[in-house]
Amino acid sequence: MKKDFAILIFFAVIGLIVYAFSFYIPKEVHEFASRLNQTSPEGIIGLSDKRKNLLLEFDDFFLNHDLPRVRDQYLTFEFPYLYQYKLLNIKLDKILEEISSVSIKDKQLKLWYVYNMGVVVKSKDKTLCFDLSAVVPNKKMSEIAQHCDLLFISHEDGDHYSNPVIKSALNAGRTVIVGKDEIGYLEQKTRQLSKKGQVVSVAHKQSMDISGIRVKAFATTHRGSRGKANFWFLVEAEGRKILHTGDGLIDDKNTEVGKVDVVLMNEYLPLEYFYWLPVDTIIPLHLHEMAHSKSFYLQANYGEYLKKYEEHTKKVPDAGKMKHILLFWGESLDI
Ligand SMILES: [Zn+2]
Repeated sequence: MKKDFAILIFFAVIGLIVYAFSFYIPKEVHEFASRLNQTSPEGIIGLSDKRKNLLLEFDDFFLNHDLPRVRDQYLTFEFPYLYQYKLLNIKLDKILEEISSVSIKDKQLKLWYVYNMGVVVKSKDKTLCFDLSAVVPNKKMSEIAQHCDLLFISHEDGDHYSNPVIKSALNAGRTVIVGKDEIGYLEQKTRQLSKKGQVVSVAHKQSMDISGIRVKAFATTHRGSRGKANFWFLVEAEGRKILHTGDGLIDDKNTEVGKVDVVLMNEYLPLEYFYWLPVDTIIPLHLHEMAHSKSFYLQANYGEYLKKYEEHTKKVPDAGKMKHILLFWGESLDI
């Protein structure tokens, strides 16, 4: 009996140590997180060596801290032990601190890259968020969602739509915006998450004013597949037009989209994709997503994007007319 008790205590202590390690942030992660603050965002054309090296170092950091996995994808309980996750945690704290303290001047917009296709855009009196998701479980993502006056969700995949994040925004009285499909499925599903806040759905090519922000939606395929809905949202704030693509490909090259200032673009879209629109700046997203398989993020990283861009500019001499800016998690940009 005494022996059984001792074994129980032994495993309880081991369990506690393992659990405590999930909160521990090694010095290496802290140091790398501060290194990322030492450069500012730059366009790919004229990219300085310092910035380029740091982008590539991020890829290395990401891939070198890959743990052996039980399956091709990580199990939920494994995330908090990843150095990448710990780095993201530091950056989510930075975002939370900044979005609640930074004051934005009249007619200005500041954008933060959060994670995957998650972005926050803040004006003087509105905070607009896109595809915030805790696909890699994290309470801080739900805290960020509480600041969003409008939270746009492109589609229901877990790396774009997650119940705790949406619930948190709605419970804080915020507005969640989804695309309207024929049966209004996503709208109903989202509404069931909370009795508070409001859920608005926008149909294909419908344009509406939501809390003083002009919003237009475009139904697209999901990475070319018609089996799943995805919506592009075109949002106008402070005279600037921002387009968020989610995972959507559009095949009718719809000219109703018009001129766009900033495209928050899935890196998977072909680089020539927006030649049919006048676009000023492209911010490639959906990079370094930990909940996907390893093969996925071996393609979706900075190094691969830079290679793709270089190949593209060899073929298309005037490719530089659109600015491409790669951002780190937690980094902000005045747009
Ligand atoms: Zn996705």
